[in-house]
Amino acid sequence: MPVVKDIFIALSNNKFMNESAKRMGPALGANKVVAGVDIDSTIETVEKLNMKGISCTLDNLGEFVTSRQEALEAQQNIVEIMRRNYNANIDAHVSIKLTQLGLNIDREFAYQNTREILLKAHEYGNTFVNIDAEKFEDLVGITEIIDRLKGEFKNVGTVIQAYLYDSMNIMEKYSDVRLRLVKGAYKEASHIAYQTKEEIDQNYIKLIERRLLTAKAFTSIATHDHNIINHVKQFVKDNNIDRNSFEFQMLFGFRTDYAYQIASEGYNFCMYVPFGQDWFGYFMRRLAERPQNINLMLLDIFNK
Ligand code: FAD
Repeated sequence: MPVVKDIFIALSNNKFMNESAKRMGPALGANKVVAGVDIDSTIETVEKLNMKGISCTLDNLGEFVTSRQEALEAQQNIVEIMRRNYNANIDAHVSIKLTQLGLNIDREFAYQNTREILLKAHEYGNTFVNIDAEKFEDLVGITEIIDRLKGEFKNVGTVIQAYLYDSMNIMEKYSDVRLRLVKGAYKEASHIAYQTKEEIDQNYIKLIERRLLTAKAFTSIATHDHNIINHVKQFVKDNNIDRNSFEFQMLFGFRTDYAYQIASEGYNFCMYVPFGQDWFGYFMRRLAERPQNINLMLLDIFNK
């Protein structure tokens, strides 16, 4: 349903809607996929997931950061959640978005903000910090910052989007960096990215297989797609790949029972847990990926 997808992507990019939704707090069912608006409730969620043998990567939600002040506040929130994770002794690290840290304001400023987070991560138990992949227009800025940081820090990694034609080259460049492999969540033009599910799935499998056979660093396979997950399980078995060289990841609130099942089968599993006020853009991207997720919204409206 390409038209429906386009509508949700357009909504995710609408600044007015994002700002209004922020004031309202998670609604329309978003509370089922956002762990909480504050750090306390987020830590409670992580503790419950840890008890199921699932580690977490925490995303401080934030869209449309246009001032230095907003970027610094985001950086401080991220440092604060790392400090609280450390004190609570939970199994969690952070996933960060460089646009939230000022990438589109001043690249050097975003680099310094990210570097500060990595220094603090070192202080708080040397936890891993993942730099999320965003729109293609931000890719050059993101990779430039990662290239500077990876020389200095071991605890930094990033994400490869399988819909990009260039994804294999980007992945190969980061063979010694911890990577998350995803299909890709944004709308990209046909001269940049595959457009059909079949092409994206095919490339995704190609990337996963190549990475699992050749990487010198840990890999996260982030998908809700049972066909891909089953394929990976078989591939790992057939090729004697060490289960500790990779993990599966899913987004909080989607296919939770399936996530528990995979973790109980003895695979490493990590849940991506978003938290904070700025839920609208994140939620709209999830609806764009899978319009059936509108069920979450309908259930919420009719349960009122
Ligand atoms: P899809 O292609 O959406 O679905 C494939 C099939 O799986 C469906 O046809 C259906 O049969 C089944 N399925 C999927 N969802 C459900 C469900 N909820 N219930 C039942 N069946 C379902 N994207 C980025 O661009 N940058 C990032 O940094 C990034 N980080 C991510 C981190 C994590 C942990 C995850 C899981 C995703 C991330 N994404 C990111 C999003 C990703 O790129 C995809 O847009 C998103 O995961 C949807 O693709 P999919 O692989 O889950 O499966």
